[in-house]
Amino acid sequence: MRKTRISSRLRRRVAEAAGYRCGYCLTPQRITGMKMQIDHMIPEAAQGPTIEENLWLACASCNAFKGERTHALDPVTGRHVHLFNPRKQRWSRHFKWGDDGTEIVGLTACGRVTVAALQMNHREIVGARELWVSAG
Ligand SMILES: [Zn+2]
Repeated sequence: MRKTRISSRLRRRVAEAAGYRCGYCLTPQRITGMKMQIDHMIPEAAQGPTIEENLWLACASCNAFKGERTHALDPVTGRHVHLFNPRKQRWSRHFKWGDDGTEIVGLTACGRVTVAALQMNHREIVGARELWVSAG
């Protein structure tokens, strides 16, 4: 996999636009104690360019599970659906928080496949969200 260097200036512009939180699961950088990663929404392996319009922030978990995918199979419709694009799509149209605020629910086919493909409700993150919710 090709890895183009991203200048600190571009990295900062992307981070500021993303509000220093993961574009998929919305985890804020300041509660992880780790820098968010730069996600190529169209992966470099699929000729996605290293330009601001193709970059957003993602946590290590979402970025790792997303890998080089752009689409995933929707188990409800059996169709291949594009993963959520945090730069172009509105989070609240495709996702919502479950009743206790620890799980992300996909509202659309795009939301459903993204929750599943990026494993946005894996046990460790739900455990962390329980602490974050209890801390307010
Ligand atoms: Zn995330």
